Amino acid sequence: MRWNDWSTIAIERANSRIQFSQTIGSFQAVSHRLVDMEMRLDAARLQVYRATAAFGAGRAALPAAMAKLAASEALAAIGIDAARIHGARGYITEFEVEREVRDALGSLVYAGTSDVQKNTIAALMGIAPSRNRPGSS
Ligand SMILES: Cc1cc2nc3c(=O)[nH]c(=O)nc-3n(C[C@H](O)[C@H](O)[C@H](O)COP(=O)(O)OP(=O)(O)OC[C@H]3O[C@@H](n4cnc5c(N)ncnc54)[C@H](O)[C@@H]3O)c2cc1C
Repeated sequence: MRWNDWSTIAIERANSRIQFSQTIGSFQAVSHRLVDMEMRLDAARLQVYRATAAFGAGRAALPAAMAKLAASEALAAIGIDAARIHGARGYITEFEVEREVRDALGSLVYAGTSDVQKNTIAALMGIAPSRNRPGSS
């Protein structure tokens, strides 16, 4: 599933699920969550575009690490938000959202965990590693 599909499916659910005689999307808490999802998606997408453009210029290390961190954190947050909007359907295995959330959590780990991406970014920002770490003299 692509990121765009996540928000499309969540918006469809928000516009069709009736609770308390109204669509759940008419509740501000739900509509604001959808806005947050869109904002995170857009910010991450722009970082990916910037990293892609930097490859051509040969200065990709920092924007690539930032884009991987931003994209995987956004994917996990958007996935959890999509699950919340689906209520129990977002949790049980009969519907696709639950599997997508598990896949999104994997993106925080593979190809360099978010913690390790931050180590890379800190080093590229010129932040010196600790002299007191094990093995250093
Ligand atoms: C879905 C999925 C697909 C994968 N695909 C591949 C693949 O195709 N090829 C492949 O080789 N591997 C793959 N992996 C393995 C993945 O690269 C490792 O799981 C990842 O590097 C973390 O290693 P670990 O599981 O041993 O966790 P650990 O290294 O034990 O990490 C545990 C925690 O400690 C933190 N941590 C560890 N070291 C540091 C550090 N130096 N600084 C700060 N924090 C640190 C981590 O961020 C994490 O929060 C995949 C993993 C997943 C979940």
